[in-house]
Amino acid sequence: MLDANTKAQLKSYLERATQPIEIVASLDDSKASDETLALLKDVAESSPLVKLTESRDDVYRKPSFSINRPGENHGPRFAGLPMGHEFTSLILALLQIGGYPPKVEDAILEQIRALNGDFEFEIFVSLTCHNCPDVVQALNLMAVQNPRIKTTMIEGGTFQDEVKERQIMAVPTVFLNGTEFGQGRMSLEEILAKIDTSGVEREAKKLDAKDPFDVLIVGGGPAGAAAAVYAARKGIRTGVASERFGGQVLDTMGIENFISVKETVGPKFAIALEEHVRHYEVDIMNLQRAKALVPGKEFVEVQLESGATLKSRTVILSTGARWRNINVPGEHEFKNKGVAYCPHCDGPLFKGKRVAVIGGGNSGVEAAIDLAGIVGHVTLIEFDKQLRADEVLQRKLRSLKNVEIFTNAQTTEITGNQTVNGLVYKDRASGELKTVALEGVFIQIGLVPNTDWLKGTVALSKHGEIEIDAKGQTSVPGVFAAGDATTVPYKQIVIAAGDGAKAALSAFDHLIRTTAPAEEPALPKEAVAA
Ligand SMILES: Cc1cc2nc3c(=O)[nH]c(=O)nc-3n(C[C@H](O)[C@H](O)[C@H](O)COP(=O)(O)OP(=O)(O)OC[C@H]3O[C@@H](n4cnc5c(N)ncnc54)[C@H](O)[C@@H]3O)c2cc1C
Repeated sequence: MLDANTKAQLKSYLERATQPIEIVASLDDSKASDETLALLKDVAESSPLVKLTESRDDVYRKPSFSINRPGENHGPRFAGLPMGHEFTSLILALLQIGGYPPKVEDAILEQIRALNGDFEFEIFVSLTCHNCPDVVQALNLMAVQNPRIKTTMIEGGTFQDEVKERQIMAVPTVFLNGTEFGQGRMSLEEILAKIDTSGVEREAKKLDAKDPFDVLIVGGGPAGAAAAVYAARKGIRTGVASERFGGQVLDTMGIENFISVKETVGPKFAIALEEHVRHYEVDIMNLQRAKALVPGKEFVEVQLESGATLKSRTVILSTGARWRNINVPGEHEFKNKGVAYCPHCDGPLFKGKRVAVIGGGNSGVEAAIDLAGIVGHVTLIEFDKQLRADEVLQRKLRSLKNVEIFTNAQTTEITGNQTVNGLVYKDRASGELKTVALEGVFIQIGLVPNTDWLKGTVALSKHGEIEIDAKGQTSVPGVFAAGDATTVPYKQIVIAAGDGAKAALSAFDHLIRTTAPAEEPALPKEAVAA
């Protein structure tokens, strides 16, 4: 099953295990079961601590297997082959059951162990989904720590009937005790916050009691991370409150234009951002969504949705942007039931099917090219008379046989019956309404700044972007802004990071000018003469 190189890697990883690991496989006569068994035999051969038992029970999905400590049977379960992006999830589950400590703060481990209740998670994944392993690994870690938490990763390709029956059209999709719990990327902290509400209240009280910051950054994407590094290096008290540290790069696959990094993937880049910030004395307050900014004479207040209020002498707003909705009937109703925004994540769920991409800019055309390799057919719909993507992308798109392009076309409705079954667009030249039968619609019409919470406090452009000057200063003294949330053109990582650095230097400059001690009173002339 595994090639010699991967086997050697697996063997060297499993050398870190110190305790016995029991794998119990539920199999039948299918080809998928044969492949699973072959993989598990390779695993068992890689360490004397691993024992493999085969079972023909009728209790679990087949093929599936659980990884347990001896005498237990509630360890993380994998249904279908955990290859592709999920191979790492398999290795981590083996190591953690084998006694290798997870890289998580003790306080979080304590919180997991103290959870009181029975939690049975099911996570539907695709093997090409880059957001799925984080969720699988977080839930596996929880299951290893607390016997009342059970978790099963389900590879959608192997369990197509279940995917259809439960109408799963986006991954990861997580069910808790049979009810949909969430979709998309979720960190361990996010999952914990969702199931341990008393933990959220405790955290809010702690935040509320914090001393004022010199610089408080709201938003932890590239702009916020750069601002934090620059501020902390000035030796001033720096905090970052963010809803999801990492920002948009968490949803990005390839990054090839951050100067000095030839190529990387978004989640890896996000980890590097956080590591760099943590290298300094920065108070990172993750999973905190700001709801209001209250300017004041000495301190600016940032009110959080958790109920806490943070105070700071200066504030840097770097709340970035999110996918723009098309706002037509059907978009909301069929979200994750055929309406999708992330081609890298959800494309594989539409294998062989007909889909549309709405938007003919770079991201739309890239998405259409990407999807054309997986799905049966792609219809690209662009409102304008011509596509707006770079010429090289357009050439590539036009060379693909399973792609058709409609320009001057306005999408008016996404139709469906429980899941998407079509799209209606208006031919803007003739005014005629036309229908396209399909099963998926990927919306790629750009981004909208995350600034709703600032309306009426700082000056915003007509597009909702925070208006800033060349130093990143907003309309409110002591409040600066950087990145995609601002009026700065060209929304890119390197630009957001540069502007974050600039905003931090401006905030520092503001602090030294406004908090300098009052000038000594001039001495009387006689005293000077003496
Ligand atoms: C799919 C995709 C691919 C991309 N590819 C590239 C690429 O290859 N190269 C490139 O240079 N750029 C790329 N970009 C653009 C790039 O990701 C952005 O320009 C960059 O991330 C902007 O950084 P930012 O810090 O301004 O905002 P964001 O990355 O959007 O970060 C915003 C931060 O603010 C937080 N936040 C939002 N609202 C609140 C609130 N109310 N309270 C607290 N926190 C809040 C968010 O959780 C997040 O932490 C891509 C974008 C996307 C979506």
